Amino acid sequence: MAETYSECLFCQIGQRETPAEIVHASDAVVAFRDINPQAPTHILIIPKDHIESAADLTKDHRGLLWDIFETAAHLAKAEGVAQSGWRLVTNVGPNAGQSVPHLHFHLLGGRTMRWPPG
Ligand code: 5GP
Ligand code: ZN
Repeated sequence: MAETYSECLFCQIGQRETPAEIVHASDAVVAFRDINPQAPTHILIIPKDHIESAADLTKDHRGLLWDIFETAAHLAKAEGVAQSGWRLVTNVGPNAGQSVPHLHFHLLGGRTMRWPPG
């Protein structure tokens, strides 16, 4: 069952209690534009359930992960970046710069990306 936290920003967005520019939603997943975009396409894909980070995923989340990756490929097409390429990244913990403790995948596209990331 869905478990969400009223004090968590991304739980609030998933529950439509805090506004965001939502571009895709299903039973388990919500995708919305990042408020501070780092590329022409910068979308955050989150589970509606509160999961703190990728470090907290279990085998029970297999279906959820499939939904997230399918959503990413679908949105890359919809954004017109499927051919030019895109990046899907999730930050875990302070050194990676995770600033919101609710699992989210950044879908980035529309410009050339550097590697390694800063
Ligand atoms: P992190 O740094 O945790 O990997 O990514 C968090 C992301 O959430 C950042 O890119 C930040 O711009 C975005 N963000 C933070 N607060 C909000 C908000 O209220 N609305 C939206 N749409 N994005 C947010
Ligand atoms: Zn949450």
